Amino acid sequence: MFVRVVPIGRISGKFVSEVCGEIEGLMNVRLRILAGIETPRAAWNQMRRQYDAARIILALSKTSEGVFIEKDMPTLGITEEDVYYNGLNFVFGIEDPGASCLLVSVARLKPEFYREHPNEYVLKDRAVKEVMHEIGHHIGLDHCVHTFCVMSFSPSARDVDAKQKDFCKGCRIKLAIKGVNID
Ligand SMILES: [Zn+2]
Ligand SMILES: [Zn+2]
Repeated sequence: MFVRVVPIGRISGKFVSEVCGEIEGLMNVRLRILAGIETPRAAWNQMRRQYDAARIILALSKTSEGVFIEKDMPTLGITEEDVYYNGLNFVFGIEDPGASCLLVSVARLKPEFYREHPNEYVLKDRAVKEVMHEIGHHIGLDHCVHTFCVMSFSPSARDVDAKQKDFCKGCRIKLAIKGVNID
């Protein structure tokens, strides 16, 4: 399985490539990093001082226009901006099956968001988990009841820390049925 990765805004290219490299080592997906895009201005919500994930997804889906929209090759956007989605105050990530797009925001994965010291390793760890989680959704996995499984729902950064960069046995079986093996 291939995933097109689009860095959004000022996120570090080195960071994106490290996250993608680590995921390739953890599951048999290939992540191709494409040229980045600007954070779409239309997505900014002045009242909330946040970006609307739905509008970012719209911009993302247009980056694959003219290429070909294929269910097997979703587009993943990674942003540093804080995003909200529908009724949710914020999201770490979302998956839009209709647009075949995934979006992960690292804004609230940063320790400094919680007034802790910046820590690149902690941030990368959390980002890897959230990207794996959204790829899992794209492949067809729902939220998992096992808190250690990367598919468990994480409403806080602490919950992200509590899970592993790995799928539980049940989720692995579902992935294998879809042709994605974890080794
Ligand atoms: Zn989820
Ligand atoms: Zn699981």
